Amino acid sequence: MLTFTTEAQNFLPPAIEWHGKSESLIAKATDPWITTTEKSGFVTTPDYDETMAWFKKLDNASPLLTMISIGKSVEGRDIFMIIASTEKNITPASLKKSARPLFLAQAGIHSGEIDGKDAGMMLLRDIAFGNKQTLLEKVNFLFIPILSVDAHERSSPYNRPNQRGPQNMGWRTNAQNLNPNRDYTKLDTKEIRSVLKVINDYDPVLYMDIHVTDGADYQYDITYGGIGRQGYSLGIRDWLETTYQTFTNDALTASGHLPGPLVYAFNDRDFSQGMTIQIGGPRFSDSYGDLRHLATILVENHSLKPFKQRVLGTYVLLENTLKLLATTGQSLKQITEKDKSNRMARFPLQWKVPQLKTAVGFDTRGIQPEINATAAPADSFQLAAIASVIRKSSVTNSDYVEWLGKPVKQTVADYKSTEPFDFISRPKGYWVPASCDVVIERLKLHGIKMAILTQPKEVTVEMYRITDYVFGDDNHHILPFQGHIQVSAATKSEIRKQLFAPGSVYISTDQPLGDLAVFLLEPTSKDSYFSWGFFHTIFERTEYIEAYVMEPMAKKMLDESPALQKEFEEKKATDKNFANNQNAILTWFYSKTKYYDERYLLYPVGREL
Ligand SMILES: [Zn+2]
Repeated sequence: MLTFTTEAQNFLPPAIEWHGKSESLIAKATDPWITTTEKSGFVTTPDYDETMAWFKKLDNASPLLTMISIGKSVEGRDIFMIIASTEKNITPASLKKSARPLFLAQAGIHSGEIDGKDAGMMLLRDIAFGNKQTLLEKVNFLFIPILSVDAHERSSPYNRPNQRGPQNMGWRTNAQNLNPNRDYTKLDTKEIRSVLKVINDYDPVLYMDIHVTDGADYQYDITYGGIGRQGYSLGIRDWLETTYQTFTNDALTASGHLPGPLVYAFNDRDFSQGMTIQIGGPRFSDSYGDLRHLATILVENHSLKPFKQRVLGTYVLLENTLKLLATTGQSLKQITEKDKSNRMARFPLQWKVPQLKTAVGFDTRGIQPEINATAAPADSFQLAAIASVIRKSSVTNSDYVEWLGKPVKQTVADYKSTEPFDFISRPKGYWVPASCDVVIERLKLHGIKMAILTQPKEVTVEMYRITDYVFGDDNHHILPFQGHIQVSAATKSEIRKQLFAPGSVYISTDQPLGDLAVFLLEPTSKDSYFSWGFFHTIFERTEYIEAYVMEPMAKKMLDESPALQKEFEEKKATDKNFANNQNAILTWFYSKTKYYDERYLLYPVGREL
């Protein structure tokens, strides 16, 4: 058998030598609290057991730190969180009530992208024993070192070929091969369920989700942002784009780093056609945070920068976020309260780039969008780029990009998703029948408030009948995505008197998580439970009528109704398949009788108008 050594690191674009002031954060070799990562010269990172044993020791040694489990993975590992606070009472209820702003940072949702864990270990060590205790004077800090704990132990040097270290990297998806950063709405994974419990129990004012990129080369080492110039939390968005960005960019620059915005090549290869913010939708942390009015920062450290540079930049970002919250956390709280009280009457389900004819999301990569020639030109952006050339491959006979390692300035078109579309009217509330228990359970996990029926209740509601549907992902491939067969559909509304059984719930949209409820329950939204396939049973017709009943009944129906006769003749004339198919004809007549299943293709959630 032939074996090949995979030395992908040899094929990475040239590394650029880096030194910065943040190198002074690295512990001295004699420091008893030096981390394994620091000791290795940032070549390796500790495994789960070693990381948690180190934190436990730190917790035992410092009154400022407390390590707790926030849930268990499917393989039985505790997902740990460190509470860093100078307050006496650190129960969830007490920290939620506290006047101090609360910062929640999470590392290792993609456990191969682990910079946050190592940065957090160093920072919490310096808070406990260094000169950084003052960071906790006005702020409380929650830190999850590894969220995807099982995946962190699926460790190998071959897991992330496009990333410059560490030597041992975890895997992207969890033990069930589910991507936790596609799970913020549907909530299949223990990992995201655990985080949502923390968010609901502690109510942080700022949430940070730390990753490492894939994709293009550029000069920035630490890129981060919210979801850009669109969304459902306008006050929070402005705070992130002005107050937060100005302060942390200055701090990163002063420490020798080059911060930048989240950068994605429009053509998924290089920047010759510009850059874009890809809107993933609330299955991702940043869009989810926006929808539930929680200031959320997605950090994407640049995968081609060395591990040491990335970890130190993350340390600076975490430390300065705490510093900023000490002075502006109260105003962020007020801004958040204002966003939480906003109730959009016309609610957009999607956003797109005005210069494109169709919406492009992160999970629709590879689809070439059509350009809208009538739109105003895109803004331009001064990109701190890396020079590149297009090479012709002798293997595939196609073009590919080669990054040359040389810093250059490049003016590029910046395509932003600023145009809302697919509007729906916001109902007063939703009635979810008891039969949808799996969905009700998940709505509760989001923290959405609901009233539960104890007696049957008849309500007049608007309901959707599915008129057309396509199974499959955004590319209409009928393949499982995250273990689900997705569906998209067209609907027609019906006003109905509907009887809801005990156990059914009423969800008012007049609540801070009302926007989230709309998004999860409107069947045409891409991250609704309907779209994720939680309502597939409505596509099945389960009762039948025999031909010996339907044939004479159809005859009688035609005899009694000239209008039906006309409709039948027209249908036969225009649809040859129908005209030659007894079963189709009998089903057509059946659908016009009272015996037909009136709930077939009826989306069972009611809208109270
Ligand atoms: Zn990631």
